[in-house]
Amino acid sequence: MQWRSPGSVLLVSCYELGHQPLGVALPLGFLERAGFAPAAIDVAVEQLDADKIARAAFVGICVPMHTALRLGIRVAQRIREINADCHICFYGLYAALNADYLLDHGGDSCIGGEYEGPLVALVEALEVRGKAQNGPLDIAGVIQRGRPAKPFLERLSFAVPSRHALPTLDKYAQLEHRGERRTAGHVEASRGCLHLCTHCPIPPVYEGRFFILPPEVVLEDIRAQVRAGATHITFGDPDFLNGPKHSLRVVRAMHEEFPHLTFDFTAKVEHLLKRGEALPEFAEKGCLFIITAVESLSDRVLSILDKNHTRADVEAALGICREAGIALRPTWVAFTPWTTRDDYLEILHFIDANALVDHVDPVQYAIRLLIPPGSWLADHPETRPHRGPLDEAAFTYRWEHPDPEMDRLQREVSRLVEQDARAGLDPADTFYRVLDLAHGREPATAQHVLPPDRLRAPRLTETWFC
Ligand code: SF4
Repeated sequence: MQWRSPGSVLLVSCYELGHQPLGVALPLGFLERAGFAPAAIDVAVEQLDADKIARAAFVGICVPMHTALRLGIRVAQRIREINADCHICFYGLYAALNADYLLDHGGDSCIGGEYEGPLVALVEALEVRGKAQNGPLDIAGVIQRGRPAKPFLERLSFAVPSRHALPTLDKYAQLEHRGERRTAGHVEASRGCLHLCTHCPIPPVYEGRFFILPPEVVLEDIRAQVRAGATHITFGDPDFLNGPKHSLRVVRAMHEEFPHLTFDFTAKVEHLLKRGEALPEFAEKGCLFIITAVESLSDRVLSILDKNHTRADVEAALGICREAGIALRPTWVAFTPWTTRDDYLEILHFIDANALVDHVDPVQYAIRLLIPPGSWLADHPETRPHRGPLDEAAFTYRWEHPDPEMDRLQREVSRLVEQDARAGLDPADTFYRVLDLAHGREPATAQHVLPPDRLRAPRLTETWFC
């Protein structure tokens, strides 16, 4: 097998929040720089191509999030059926957290953290070793059977992401704004996070560290996506304000070159308050909306999740964003073992009272806390009384609410949100139907409390989240 021939190395993306997958584009860039000619498949928008799989000596499956991981296991099984001999490597945030299970279910190796460097080193080592020999290779950051390794947390020499082998941007989530749909691109200016929220999968891997990508690499990636039709860019950093000077530098350079490009990013409430002085400039340079993980308004839940914000902080962050002219799109962990019905109602009433109905995707009303293996929440003293066994195949610990009515409400909300989405109901109507359920009433049919032709907050068309 010629490891450097086209398609000998294959990278597969399963799901990346509706974006053209950076989790494949970036390692493609690294591999091409190292002299390989990798192919790619994104099963979120295209078929798993059996010919491409049969040609590959190495298949990397990108698992940056929970949904991708669940799909990735099925993809690995299918790859094994087609090509029994190829090396299968799971890489990305969830690969390190679930390495034991992945190595028992089709994986030969797993890489977490700053994975591109170890990924290239692994492909090069396999090329040199050839097929005859077996056994683990000694490569930092590469977890193999009988050879554990820590997530790789060293600064990389970044390559520019390569996107030519990926489906075109029009196949992915678009920006919806002022009644129009526009092509959206997706970059990251940093990875990891400075913070240690207990429910988040990033701290067990990055341990409170974050890594910036060189601005010239980010800008080159933006240029490529603008050439491919993007008029809006999502900065997918876990928190764009972990390095505010770096982010501002990237945004200034982007705006200088593409003054009509709009953008969005994610930042925590605490950062919006402490680093909010940059928001007017972000707005002036095209920022349309910011996603912020509010999660809950209950002091108890927020303290267990270690979010370091309060309800008053959320209100203040909302005010700062509104003053700057940027829409704030809060996300929620609506159901946790500690969330009471009153807490849940408080979230809904807060959304209503603050005119945020169009800023929250209905799926958010049904989100149930995930406790993945390796998560710091898994061994939290507040979790233990509620935690059941690990559901290995679902990659989460089971848990039950002390009040079974809350688990029932979550299932009902989930069903209603799904049904309404399938029926194409206005999300505002779904909101008021969820409110009925939460109050123990039969959900009313669509009320059109908000006029259907109203101007809605800017959003991406993909509503899933994790
Ligand atoms: S939830 Fe956000 S702020 Fe907290 S650790 Fe994760 S990325 Fe960082």
